[in-house]
Amino acid sequence: MSLNTTPSKIICVGRNYADHAKELGNAVPDTPILFIKPPSSLIGLDDGIRWNADLGECHFECELSIQIGKRLKNATEFEARAAMSGVTLGLDLTLRDLQNSLKKQGYPWERSKAFDGSCVLGGWLSPEMIAEYKDARYTFKVNGVQRQVGETSHMLFDVVGLIAHISQTFTLEPGDVVMTGTPAGVAALHAGDQLEMMLETLLGDVSWKTFVR
Ligand code: ZN
Repeated sequence: MSLNTTPSKIICVGRNYADHAKELGNAVPDTPILFIKPPSSLIGLDDGIRWNADLGECHFECELSIQIGKRLKNATEFEARAAMSGVTLGLDLTLRDLQNSLKKQGYPWERSKAFDGSCVLGGWLSPEMIAEYKDARYTFKVNGVQRQVGETSHMLFDVVGLIAHISQTFTLEPGDVVMTGTPAGVAALHAGDQLEMMLETLLGDVSWKTFVR
């Protein structure tokens, strides 16, 4: 059962789809690239996305997201799978111009990824609604036009393996969230955009809508 609790942290994975690494001109990593969004980054689907436009473009990144239901430290893949308490889709919102400038200077990119309102999550579903985490599929639409297709079979590091790997560095607490990386197609959001994340599940497609203010 999913937990109705605020995460202590949201762990995100960078460049987990080769086609997305390529579209941003990044090398494909040989170990997962990890970063954290704090609980203050979370907003609800009904809140509406906003950012400081003085900082440049804000890009969408739609990602399969997992809720952790039990404390995990140095977990095996078996323990990682057993600790999953929810699945949904989420947006890892990114101030791309700022991120590029920080990267160029060799600085941490937190300001571009972990700012207030940089994370929107759909509602939690039972993890059993996905038959096989190595073969899940989702889509993301902006104003009714499909912009991203996520197929987890294309991930460089699979969902359950990632959770086990993350727990070697960061103890995962009940309620924590893992965002598993974005496929190609990321682009800038604009005021008034209507957004829809759609996950294919064993009980049919489930979608969540949000918008840009
Ligand atoms: Zn991302």
